[in-house]
Amino acid sequence: MKKDVKDYIRTIVDFPHEGILFRDVTTLFADPRGFRMAIDQMLHPYAGERIDKVVGLEARGFILGGAIAHQLSVGFVPIRKKGKLPGTTISEEYTLEYGEAIVEIHDDALQPGEKVLIVDDLLATGGTAEAGIKLVERLGAEIVGCAFIIDLPDLGGRKRLEAMGMDVFALCEFE
Ligand code: IMP
Repeated sequence: MKKDVKDYIRTIVDFPHEGILFRDVTTLFADPRGFRMAIDQMLHPYAGERIDKVVGLEARGFILGGAIAHQLSVGFVPIRKKGKLPGTTISEEYTLEYGEAIVEIHDDALQPGEKVLIVDDLLATGGTAEAGIKLVERLGAEIVGCAFIIDLPDLGGRKRLEAMGMDVFALCEFE
């Protein structure tokens, strides 16, 4: 039987904490058919749309975003955890399950009016993506969509991003 994207994703029990089912996309990335399928499918809804830059969220969003940007022949922009980007940055703080995190983008990475696709591997509570969206919007760019491999709908991220007016696309869901 033909495999789909979900079949390539491995689940690791009790990582990084007891009681967590970690959805591991490294097995998808490592498979030549799986990886190509994921990139092709993530681009599908945006065929014919203008996209000027792909923005990837650290760290698996870099792997996806690089491949997607290459496919579209557009530039790639990283959003990184605090202290990793060498140039002048703007930052956003957001809440994690335990504590806070800060993400940053170079302040000259996007131009006002540029059309941006945001990508990451997994949408859970939406906190990480929301911080990324705020950074992109603060630079005046317009977000065409937010694309993920996995949505965990029970954690509410999709609703949270849609409430911000975002178009959210994911290849598969896990409970
Ligand atoms: P959120 O901010 O709660 O939506 O969490 C999403 C972020 O946490 C993304 O950057 C994911 O890479 C990461 N993440 C959370 N759970 C998992 C998982 O089960 N597998 C892979 N990444 C995860």
